[in-house]
Amino acid sequence: MTNAGEYPSLPEACVICGGSDSLEAQAITRVFTPGWVWFFLPLGVLPAGLLALAVQIKHQFSMLVCRSCRARRVWASAVHWVAILSCLVLIFVAIIVGLLNQSWLAFLGVLALAGVIAFASGRFDDRTNPRYSVFTREKVELEIPGRGRFVVFPPWHLLNSESNRRAL
Ligand SMILES: [Zn+2]
Repeated sequence: MTNAGEYPSLPEACVICGGSDSLEAQAITRVFTPGWVWFFLPLGVLPAGLLALAVQIKHQFSMLVCRSCRARRVWASAVHWVAILSCLVLIFVAIIVGLLNQSWLAFLGVLALAGVIAFASGRFDDRTNPRYSVFTREKVELEIPGRGRFVVFPPWHLLNSESNRRAL
């Protein structure tokens, strides 16, 4: 069965690197939280967290991932949580160091370190996830290296591609 024109089905390829080495279907969740939410962190972790939950966009897929990308993804989730925890700790450290030294400079210096960790962790995350050329509540489009762009949401399309895969 082929899909009608507009949405070509996903290729038999890793959605992260486009490779085809021992592919396996993996649950991939992508949450997009607008960056400006974190400026509300000074108001408290709870209000900022609730705001983040309210405005974030979340989609879950089952997509093919190759062996080496699967291995990297295992590391990525650990790196991700270590980065989040160290950022939270650093924010408290920044407040304490700032108060002890009576210095905004010390406060901002430690805070900048948390920013660097968050940025680096984000870059690493990007390399272990599919590249999304469109990611909104209504539509998600993937860019698979060497294969092109594929719409993976709305979900009827994903169901089609899964039945195609079983037919192979
Ligand atoms: Zn791969």
